[in-house]
Amino acid sequence: MKKSKPVIASERNYIIEKEKFVPVSEYYGEDTFSHKVMKEKLPKDTFKKLMEAINEDKILDIATADIVAHAMKEWALEKGATHFAHWFQPMTGITAEKHDAFVDPSGIGEVVEKFSGKQLVQGEPDASSFPSGGIRATFEARGYTAWDMSSPAFIRRNGISTTLCIPTAFISYTGEALDKKTPLLRSNRAVNTSALNMLKLLGSKNVKKVYATLGPEQEYFLIDMDYFFKRQDLVLGGRTIVGAPPAKGQELEDQYFGSIKERMSSYMHDGIPAKTRHNEVAPSQFELAPVFEEANLAVDHNQIVMDTMQSVAKKHSLACLLHEKPFAKINGSGKHVNWSLSDNNGNNLLNPGNTPHDNITFLVFLVAAVRAVYKNADILRASVATYANDHRLGANEAPPAIISVFLGDQLTKILANIEKGTVNKATDAEIIDLGISSLPIVSKDNTDRNRTSPFAFTGNKFEFRAVGSSQSISFPATVLNTIVAESIDHLAEKIKAKGAKNINQAVFEVLKSEIKDIKPVLFNGDNYTKEWETEAGKRGLPNYKTTPVALKALITSKALNLFEKYQVLSKVELNSRYIIYLEKYIKDLEIEVKCLNNICLNQVIPAAAAYQKMIAKAIISTKEVLGTAAVVSAQTEILKKVVDLVNSIYLVNKDILAKVEVANAVHDEAKKADTLCGKVKPKMDELREYVDELEGLVDDELWPLPKFWEMLFIS
Ligand code: ADP
Ligand code: MG
Repeated sequence: MKKSKPVIASERNYIIEKEKFVPVSEYYGEDTFSHKVMKEKLPKDTFKKLMEAINEDKILDIATADIVAHAMKEWALEKGATHFAHWFQPMTGITAEKHDAFVDPSGIGEVVEKFSGKQLVQGEPDASSFPSGGIRATFEARGYTAWDMSSPAFIRRNGISTTLCIPTAFISYTGEALDKKTPLLRSNRAVNTSALNMLKLLGSKNVKKVYATLGPEQEYFLIDMDYFFKRQDLVLGGRTIVGAPPAKGQELEDQYFGSIKERMSSYMHDGIPAKTRHNEVAPSQFELAPVFEEANLAVDHNQIVMDTMQSVAKKHSLACLLHEKPFAKINGSGKHVNWSLSDNNGNNLLNPGNTPHDNITFLVFLVAAVRAVYKNADILRASVATYANDHRLGANEAPPAIISVFLGDQLTKILANIEKGTVNKATDAEIIDLGISSLPIVSKDNTDRNRTSPFAFTGNKFEFRAVGSSQSISFPATVLNTIVAESIDHLAEKIKAKGAKNINQAVFEVLKSEIKDIKPVLFNGDNYTKEWETEAGKRGLPNYKTTPVALKALITSKALNLFEKYQVLSKVELNSRYIIYLEKYIKDLEIEVKCLNNICLNQVIPAAAAYQKMIAKAIISTKEVLGTAAVVSAQTEILKKVVDLVNSIYLVNKDILAKVEVANAVHDEAKKADTLCGKVKPKMDELREYVDELEGLVDDELWPLPKFWEMLFIS
């Protein structure tokens, strides 16, 4: 690219303050109105009532809400907040806030800071500015936000403004969910009910609550901000829609766990506490692994983390790319969502234990999860279906679109033995004791050797790896909770039906028949191979490669009935979500079409024309000097190639625009998405190839776009 000279870290004018070392534990969560803070700030009985409301789903009376609101406001004022905002997660993919000042007139020309229980509990943003997938057409335009007591309020600083953010659910006037939080909370309730019933059946005592835990490992790229702003495809769509891969990619594998470059490292140090941070496989790619938490909190915090990552990057003159595939032919970014179930005593239900009871519990929940994935692989696939993630799934560096489960050799053997009814002799202390039989225990080291599986058991949790890096993890978690609840109920009914006196024996028999049934979803091999695709087809596993096809799984009668039965999403709500996801797909694709058109007509073709002129002039002047017999075949060939490529680019671009116009004449969203996906997307890929070939021919000084090698290797 022309003009911009390489930018090196030391030339930058950002300031890395010399910080004195402060342990993370000292400031971790200092800007959240946590249980610890509440305990400190609230009267004893208020705190007790609030905790009961949170833990036992009790209703909080308005008098108590007033006291909580007052304490929250006092705490927020101490932190410098001037406004409060109901913070919610509409279907747009980003979070939204409606800000209000604390001040209230208290006399003529006088104000006081005020915040009431009513303001805390409920807000009324205008629902008409958020996607509703048709719900709005049939119902009222008004919507309201409702305080989610289970997720602590927090302080958000943005430039000079400081705001108290209150996590809320966002619902239509008639009670339909318009956001991502509401169904997640409902799915938490569903999995809690089913798991508690199961635990009771298995004879567990002292368990009051079961909740899903989530730990989303977040992948991302960091590039210099100057480059970012020179590319409208990155600014508007998040990924490069043209650009040739660099001479050096990730072949040398010297990036993974490599030393983190200075500027990147100070970025990571700046206000983003994480359990793990390391380089990823691709150059300039990194990963952040958070501490796992209860699902609802983990979802909220991942949204905040994504926002924070982007704003902190700006401070370091970097751009944080969360897109699933910012650079073609370079590794994409996913979000590995670790999922498990925990009881209120902190016991992980997917942890193989030491007693027969623990082991039975472990196997029941393990088999329930595997069954859930097997029976609902299509819905799980739909939960990660986005335009951006289509570039990643099945691209041989991410899990394929086929959802299978990796259990590792040991667990697979254990299940096979249960299925056969054979019992292994315990050879050492490491046994899985079922009370009626002994099987080798899973040792943690023997799991997670497979990086290609979309859904892998990793010792004491499952890791759902097909989730996209930029998407909210709310819907994938909602789907997981719901389908697992259904499978737990299914197993519970079967166990009960056995009517056996020995519960372990009953469980053993049920597991035996279930394992036989769900076996096709188990796969420990390399998920990237062609052979697996063929084999998965034979096993009848769905393989929905694109979003418009994958999303259809949301409106099958199986899905509609399942979500309605568990009161997670009504049929109206799920249908509306299907439409919203389709609309998002269409919008994302069409933004790229417009960008591509602009880049081709305003940047690429003008650059090529300038180069054409340069070469043509060179040919003429060479002949003038050396005579007409001078050999200029190389220049002539290059010129011809450039001219041909420009013609192809112009024609394919025109063709794309015409096809989009045809698609837009269709009023059925599903059909429109199908046309864009089937007819337009392949043409965009073709166009990219011409542009990338041209990039390899045109003078570097004339090329208007930052190239991959610049963006990925200069920092
Ligand atoms: P490993 O290093 O074996 O991959 P870690 O314990 O480092 O496992 O966990 C990786 C990610 O999984 C982290 O983000 C972590 O928070 C999350 N995680 C760990 N245990 C659980 C759990 N029980 N439920 C949900 N997420 C978990
Ligand atoms: Mg991982």
